[in-house]
Amino acid sequence: MKLAVIGGGFSGLALCYYLLKKGGEVTLFDRGGGASKIASGLLHPYPGENGSLSWKGVEGMRETRTLLEMVGPDVYKETGILRFAVSEKQRKVFKKRSEEHSDIEWWDKEKCHDFVPGSSYLPGIFIRSGITVHAKAYLEGLWKICEALGGRREEKSVVLDDLQGFDRVILAAGGGIRSFAAAKKLDLRFTKGQLLVCKRPHYLKGESSITGKGYLALSEREDRCYLGSTYERRHTTEEPCLGTATDLIFNQIGQFIPSYGAFHVEGCLAEMRVSTKDRLPFIGKIDANTYAMTGMGSRGLLYHAYFGKKLAEEVMG
Ligand SMILES: Cc1cc2nc3c(=O)[nH]c(=O)nc-3n(C[C@H](O)[C@H](O)[C@H](O)COP(=O)(O)OP(=O)(O)OC[C@H]3O[C@@H](n4cnc5c(N)ncnc54)[C@H](O)[C@@H]3O)c2cc1C
Repeated sequence: MKLAVIGGGFSGLALCYYLLKKGGEVTLFDRGGGASKIASGLLHPYPGENGSLSWKGVEGMRETRTLLEMVGPDVYKETGILRFAVSEKQRKVFKKRSEEHSDIEWWDKEKCHDFVPGSSYLPGIFIRSGITVHAKAYLEGLWKICEALGGRREEKSVVLDDLQGFDRVILAAGGGIRSFAAAKKLDLRFTKGQLLVCKRPHYLKGESSITGKGYLALSEREDRCYLGSTYERRHTTEEPCLGTATDLIFNQIGQFIPSYGAFHVEGCLAEMRVSTKDRLPFIGKIDANTYAMTGMGSRGLLYHAYFGKKLAEEVMG
C-alpha cells in the first residue's frame, strides 16, 4: 500500500515507523518547523494541576519508552522529574498521588531545596518514572530507523492534490493542519507556546528536570536549559516574541525559583500546540482515503507512540 504521511514531528515519525513495520510503502513529507522540534522533552504521565494520571498514561509511557530505547540512550535522560507543589491545594493532592502511585515519592521542603539550590522552600513530588527527551536528537534517530526500514522523505510543503498517486494520506501536520480543508470538521484549537533557551546558573547542577508553574527542562548540553512555557490563545504573531515569553515564563518560574534573575537568556522559540475540544488526541479517518493524527496538545511525547501504533493498525487493517 502506498502511503503518504504529512509531518515529520513526533506523530508523523511514530506513525511512519509503525506503518513501515506493517509493510507499508511510506513517503514522509515535511516542510520544517513544528512543535516537536522545539519541545522541552518533559515526559511523565502525571501532568495538569492535580497531577492525576493521564488517560492512557500508562500505555503511552510504555509505548514511548519502547521507541526511546530503540533509538538509543543518548536521546533521553531517565533521571526523574521533580514537581514542586506551589499551592496549598497542590500540597494536598500531590501527597495523595504519592500514596496512590509507586513511582511517585513525596519530598518535604528541605529535601526539595537540597535537590534544587536556589529554589523556594516548597515540598513536592519526585516522579521517578519521569524522563527528559532531547527532542531533536530523538526525531533524527527515529527517522534513521524509518529510513533503514525503507521510508522515503521529501523536505517540502504539500497539499492533498499533490498526493493523488497514494492509496492513503495521513495528516500529522501539527499546526499546519489548519491549511487542510478536510480537517476543518475536527474543530481544533491552536495555542502558541514559547520557551526560553538559557545558560544554566552554575549552582543548578541537578540531573533532573523540575516543574512548578512553568518548568526548567534539562538540555542536551550540560550548561544550558529550557525554561517554559507559555500558553497564548491570543497572540499577534506566531513568531517568537522575547518580551512576552520572558514576562510570562519568569512570572511562573519565580514561584519556585526566586533566583531566576541568574538565568542568562540566549534565545526564544515559538510554535503552535494543537488540541481538540475535549483535549484528547484525534486519530482516525476524516475522508475517503485521508486520516488525521492530531490534537496532541502538551502531551505529544506521552501519546505519539501509542496513537501512532493504533492508527497504523487502522490504516493497514
Ligand atoms: C514551547 C513548547 C514546549 C513543549 N514541550 C513539550 C514537552 O516538554 N513535552 C511534550 O510531550 N510536549 C511538549 N510540547 C507539545 C509537543 O511539542 C506537541 O504535542 C507535539 O510536538 C505535536 O507533534 P506533532 O507531530 O503532532 O506536530 P508537529 O511537531 O507540529 O509536527 C508537524 C509537522 O508537520 C509539518 N507540516 C505541516 N504542514 C505541512 C505541509 N503542508 N506539508 C509538509 N509538511 C507539513 C511541519 O513541518 C512539522 O514538522 C511542547 C510544545 C511547545 C510549543
